[in-house]
Amino acid sequence: SPSLDVETVRAQFPILATQAHGHPLVYLDNAASAQKPRAVVEVVSDYYLGKHANIHRGAYLLSQTATRLYEEARERIARFINAAEPAECLFTRGTTESINLVAASWGMQHLGPGDEIVLSVLEHHSNIVPWQLVAERTGAKIRVIPIDDAGDLQLDVYYRLLSPRTKLVAVGHVSNALGTINPVAEIIAAAHAVGALVLVDGAQWVAHGNTDVQALDADFYAFSGHKLYGPTGIGVLYGKRRLLDAMPPYQGGGDMIERVTFTETTFAELPNKFEAGTPHIAGAVGLAAAIDWLDGLGLEAVAAHEAELLHQATARLGEIPGLEIKGTARHKAGVLSWVAVDPPISTLDMGTQLDLEGICVRTGHHCCEPLMDHFGVTSTARASFGVYNNHDDVERLAIALAKVFATAHRRLGVVREAASTE
Ligand code: PMP
Repeated sequence: SPSLDVETVRAQFPILATQAHGHPLVYLDNAASAQKPRAVVEVVSDYYLGKHANIHRGAYLLSQTATRLYEEARERIARFINAAEPAECLFTRGTTESINLVAASWGMQHLGPGDEIVLSVLEHHSNIVPWQLVAERTGAKIRVIPIDDAGDLQLDVYYRLLSPRTKLVAVGHVSNALGTINPVAEIIAAAHAVGALVLVDGAQWVAHGNTDVQALDADFYAFSGHKLYGPTGIGVLYGKRRLLDAMPPYQGGGDMIERVTFTETTFAELPNKFEAGTPHIAGAVGLAAAIDWLDGLGLEAVAAHEAELLHQATARLGEIPGLEIKGTARHKAGVLSWVAVDPPISTLDMGTQLDLEGICVRTGHHCCEPLMDHFGVTSTARASFGVYNNHDDVERLAIALAKVFATAHRRLGVVREAASTE
């Protein structure tokens, strides 16, 4: 496969030429949100400056143009994830709303007392809380797939959790906190064998490898535009037509109806049934542009590049005594989480000191408190790689972190010396 020319990629991201605290920016928080290439921003601004009108207001050309662009974006997304048809791809605000849509619509319709929803310890809060809300309302129970020390799901336990009571399995494709890539095809096949449906939280996958919802046989697949080098406020819920057709609307409003009277309202066909109100048209157009841009690089080349960065970072950070990496699964995306064991430096302290050198990492629980509880920590520091990161970024992180550790060691030494001379 063709390899990636990372310097050409970087040149398309003006933000990477900016500085933070007097240092060239090293942006390593791609799991939280990715930066935007000029091509995406230009498509969005061209749309607003020359093509905008509300969609589905068909009398005039401009509205027809906006409608066409919006629906072409849906077609582009369907091709990107290999959906059987564009109408199976619904525009949402992002992964969070996509999951809430399924929980509220499908969950309220299908779940009852005694039914079980299977999640995993790795899940992001947005793939936990919507299910807790629906479980509370319906009497369904939540079961949890545990993980091992490396951060891999314990599949043998998962297989034993499955039963005719299992109605839905909701799992992340990639863990945002550890980087673990889950064997979603196997997870889906096992769930289907007991008659359960599967929702895959693809937030951390779609920008890092090829997605084929039909090959996976996913029932629902959720992702966000902003982690895919596209705009914020736009995301996608893929669902099989047969399931979406049978589900009640999530929100009511304009554009989602066929006919409204005060005695009865009938709903529009897919996808409009699930897209009440004026959608984020520019967001959809921008997301399609981001997909065009990323696909143009080739996701295999992107994955190979990010795997190299992960390899380098794992080796370099592994050289720092007292730094402990959390999450050592064999199949990992470009995410590296760590804590400082000796000397014990708070993750916030590490993050703040890195920031002073222009390096952006995330510190905290990463919206994965159950996972933090599993490791007995409240927080990790995390570097997550994107297509524009280079070896220099990783080197700067490693050197700055080594300095943070050395400083903490020195301070601790001074404190110990003071204590021993008392
Ligand atoms: N799931 C995972 C695995 C995530 O990493 C994120 C974003 N951190 C989300 C869900 C939520 O995505 P969003 O905030 O874009 O709705």
